Formats: sequence, C-alpha cells, structure tokens
Amino acid sequence: MSTSVATRVAGVDVPTGHFIGGEWLAGDASFETISPIDQEAIAEVARAGEREVDAAVGAAAEAFPDWAALGPGGRAPYLRRLADLIDANVERLAAVECADMAMLLRSLRARVIARGALNFRNYAELAVAYEERDWRSRGTWNRVQRTPAGPAAVITPWNAPFMLSTWKVAPALAAGCTVVLKPAEWSPLSCAVLAQLAAEAGMPPGVFNVVQGIGEEAGAALVSHPLIRRVSFTGSPETGRLIGVAAARNLVPFTAELGGKGPLVVFDDADLDAAAAKAAGQYDDAGQVCLAGTRLLIQDGIRGAFLERFHAAVDRHVLGDPREDATTISPLIHPDHVDRVAGFVERALADGQRLVRGGHRLDGLLFEPTLIEPTRDDAEIVQREVFGPVLTLQTFTDEADAIRLANSTAYGLSGIVYTGSLGRADRVGRAIRAGVIWVNTFLVRDLTAPFGGVGISGIGREGGDYALDFYSDLKTLQILDGSVM
Ligand code: NAD
Repeated sequence: MSTSVATRVAGVDVPTGHFIGGEWLAGDASFETISPIDQEAIAEVARAGEREVDAAVGAAAEAFPDWAALGPGGRAPYLRRLADLIDANVERLAAVECADMAMLLRSLRARVIARGALNFRNYAELAVAYEERDWRSRGTWNRVQRTPAGPAAVITPWNAPFMLSTWKVAPALAAGCTVVLKPAEWSPLSCAVLAQLAAEAGMPPGVFNVVQGIGEEAGAALVSHPLIRRVSFTGSPETGRLIGVAAARNLVPFTAELGGKGPLVVFDDADLDAAAAKAAGQYDDAGQVCLAGTRLLIQDGIRGAFLERFHAAVDRHVLGDPREDATTISPLIHPDHVDRVAGFVERALADGQRLVRGGHRLDGLLFEPTLIEPTRDDAEIVQREVFGPVLTLQTFTDEADAIRLANSTAYGLSGIVYTGSLGRADRVGRAIRAGVIWVNTFLVRDLTAPFGGVGISGIGREGGDYALDFYSDLKTLQILDGSVM
C-alpha cells in the first residue's frame, strides 16, 4: 500500500486514504464520491478490501492492551483534546460534510458538529465517573468490574455521518476499546477529517482507525474479522440483519440502530400551531432522518384545522443549496436515492393512495415535500421507511385508535406526541412501541439517556452508561470474606 494524497474539498484538505496504525494509506482500488449539491465528483477515495481491513484490525488489536491499561482517567485527556480540536475545526468539518452529504451548512455550524465534540467530552467524563459496584453476600464480597472488550468495529450510515460516527467512537474509546470505523461510501469525507484530528490529538497509533470502502466489501470483512470483539452498527434493517449474522458467527455482541417510521400523533387538546410547525419540520434534512415522525396521525375532529396550518408551514420551506442560509430543504444524497424515493411515491399513487401535496422531483437531487393520504393502513407507503421528504396522513378517533395506528408498523424507533394532557402523554407514551417518545417537542436528547429501537428498528441500547457497558466486559470478582487484608 502506498501513502495516499489528500484532495481539496470545499477549500479543505481532506485525506482520501485509510487511516491505519496512525498512517494514511491509499491501497490499490478507489471509489468516487459525488457532491449532492451539483452531482460533481469531489473525491476519489481509497476502497478497502480484506487486506486493508485486516491491517486496520491488526493495528487496533496491537494498540488495544496499552490503551486498555491506561484506564478511564488516562484515556480522558485524549478524548478531551479531540473534542477541543473538533470545536476548533467546526468550519472545516461543516464545509466538508455539507459538500459530501448536503446537510444544511447552517445546522452543521450551529449544532451538528458541536454534538460530535460533546460526545467525546461527555464520554471522557462518564467513563471516569463510573463507580464499580460492591456488595456483600453469602460470606463473600462481590465487585462488578468493567474491563474493555477489545477492538470494536463501527459501521455508520451516510446521513449525519460525522455526528453518528462520534456517537459510537467516543464511548468505545472511553471504555478502552480500540476502533476501526467504516463510514458510508456516499459520504466518507468528514470521518477522514475526524481521523486527522484524532492524530493531531496525539491518539496513539492504532487506537482509532478508519477504513474507507463499500459495505459489501470493507464492511462485511470488518464485521466478520475474528479479532473484532464488538460490532456497533447504524443503518438499515436489511444490513443490520446481515451484520447480526456475521457477529453471531464469531459470538460477538452487536448493537444495531436501524431505520424508523415514527408516528407524529396530534390530539385535539394539543397546541395546533406548534404541532403543525413540527410536522412541517419533519421535511428538514430532506427527511433523511431515522428519528423523523413520518406518519402524521391526526385526531379526526382537527384534521382541517391541522392541515391548514401544516400547509402554511410547509409553504415556508425553501428548497435549494445547503450552503445558503435561507435553505431549509437540501438535495437528497444521491441520484439512486432520489430514484428510490420517487419509486415509493409512484407505487403509492399507482396503488390508489391519495396525493395531498408535492410528489415530484425538482432540479438536481431536490424532491418536493410530499404528503400522501393512504386509503389502507397496510399500504407500502405507510409500512416502509422512505428516508426522504415524504409523509403520510392518517386520522384516528380516540386514544386507543391512535395507539393502534402508531403501533401498526414493524418499526419502533421513535414517536412524537402532541397533547395538552400529562395523563395522556404518559399513557400514550407508554403504549407506543419505540425507543424514544417526544411529547410536544422533537430531537431534544440528553446524551446519558438510553438510545435504540425495538422491532426492526434495532437491538441494544447506546447512550450514557449503556454504551460504556456495551463496549466493556462486565466481570464479577468474588472474594471470600476476611481472606484478604
Ligand atoms: P445501509 O444499511 O445501506 O448502510 C449503512 C452502512 O453499512 C454503510 O456504511 C454501508 O457501507 C455498510 N454496509 C452495507 N452492507 C454491509 C454489509 N454487508 N456488511 C457490513 N457493512 C455493510 O444504510 P444507509 O442507507 O447508509 O443509511 C440509511 C439507514 O440508516 C436508514 O434505514 C436509516 O433510518 C438508518 N439510520 C438509523 C439511525 C438510528 O440511530 N437508528 C440513524 C441514522 C440512520
């Protein structure tokens, strides 16, 4: 393997190779990444095969004993330095991610990149604050020790690649695992900058590695590598199943944060203006958000009043270039993804579902904010994640009917409920099958809370101590009472 060159993207030098054992390596093959803004190729990125993956996992395995031996207090300064460097490089990271994924530059600058820094800072503190549990029973002292699990494989999707990768890499490193990250092939570049910053933070060689490449090649080789001790995946349920099978073959624990088809439920006692504005906000990031409430469930008496406000709010969206401040809906990630989204809409209409608004491709990779009113609750457009600016509208009669509809898909990632009643918020929140329910708000999260899905939306929990537990082996030390000083 030769040393790769960097390329310039949005005015930023971005490495295009793999980051293995503290060095940048090009490998023999490459793939092209395009910018969704103008569909121009912006980088030729190294494409890992088994050989590069094996080198990266080997580097992670070699670095593991020393990194684990540092303990949480010894590792924390590295994570804090990386957090500071992310904060100091918000502009560069935002520019690269905007060019590569077309997320709104405004939100990248204001909050998304900073969340990545917060992930490293928070996990440095959480790992240090963890207290081993001691108790006495049956003539012995019991102590639960948390020991780092080993090299971890982290595989992430193309939407919000920087934030979602740091969400996994930070707890893994804080817990004492070394990491091999494979970002998604449609938006690989911001994670290359993350590796650059990790090196600048003085992270020892091999502690954090990045292999670039295609899911079926690099991803598959990584999750089935025999030296990998944890697999953490975010992506689609289809890939989640394949990765689960690979992890199971090696008897390696895995977590999977998968797709969603969340309900946004509006009761007639809710603040309708707030609910309608939030419903229109589900088109933000062009609907490429796993947690989005894409099924609008509206109590039947307020359908007209809700729709009037909803349409007014959607009319205020501005579709266009994600670098412009005024833009609220940016282009979709890739031409293939536009085809996928358009296919869902075409099939829904051919199947007799009613188009309420939108439904068309626009210039470039833009797609109109679309609302479809299904004629059947089991229609594909209600049951499958579109991952684009497409919502459905269904009405319900009462609380029981709302819960029935909310729980009528195989997904269970998130839900949003608008109501003025605490009792109803508690009852409905409890009854909806999901990993997180927001009441009268959306996307506000405490990073120490558990995060994950049920049903086909995922397995396992990350966030706070839940993630630190996942990246650790929990061991019980049992000492005979009075036998040691
Ligand atoms: P995807 O499943 O196609 O790909 C995700 C990652 O898996 C990519 O890095 C890809 O290269 C890799 N991959 C693909 N095949 C693989 C294989 N056989 N072995 C190993 N790795 C493989 O998902 P996507 O299209 O990139 O992302 C969109 C999906 O992610 C949506 O379903 C979305 O809801 C979900 N998502 C979930 C969350 C969450 O927190 N639950 C967050 C963001 C996105």
